[in-house]
Amino acid sequence: MTPIKIVLATANPHKVSEIEEIFRSQVELDTVLIPRPTEIPEVEETGETLVENARLKAAAIVRATNSMAVADDTGLFVRALGGAPGVHSARYAGERATDQDNVAKLLTAMSRVTDRRATFETVALALMPDGTEFRAIGAVHGTIATSARGGGGFGYDPVFIPDELPGRTFAELSSQEKHRLSHRGRAFRALGEMIARGNLARGTERS
Ligand code: IMP
Repeated sequence: MTPIKIVLATANPHKVSEIEEIFRSQVELDTVLIPRPTEIPEVEETGETLVENARLKAAAIVRATNSMAVADDTGLFVRALGGAPGVHSARYAGERATDQDNVAKLLTAMSRVTDRRATFETVALALMPDGTEFRAIGAVHGTIATSARGGGGFGYDPVFIPDELPGRTFAELSSQEKHRLSHRGRAFRALGEMIARGNLARGTERS
């Protein structure tokens, strides 16, 4: 069988190998994954939701390559902050914010908060040149730590404690432990299953 060619909206080598690992472990899913070619610029994430942003990124790739494209978008939704930073997670502390800036702002916002529940959510979306789209949502529930801990991972990992492995932040887990239960791992496994099943129905699968 000819492998399915998929152009990814990300050029980040860590994300590319993570997606590759997940798709490779998928039964009967034979894909060739191509990172975003350098001549295709990154799109501005102007959407109001994770789905809109993932769709903007995938659509830009489809327009430029006329191939199937896969994109994702992630947010950290903190209950006591009314869902912030949410869709704005990357720019929470400003346009040029670093991960450390974002974590510091979150810890300050949470300094007097006792309800520390939060959810990481990823939308993984595949778009075909004929406009057919399918998408999956992966979520992981947890709490925000009172201080940053751990040297692994990235982003908000040092302050996110998943309910399924209480006591440790994402940054204190091995990458295998994190991928097994992470929002992105779940979203991409579900999307991989949809692609493998050739399920072209529009809609969202939750995992
Ligand atoms: P993106 O949609 O993957 O670009 O992520 C949006 C924001 O969420 C960025 O600030 C990332 O650092 C953060 N983020 C995404 N995935 C994770 C994760 O697995 N752990 C911690 N932070 C993440």
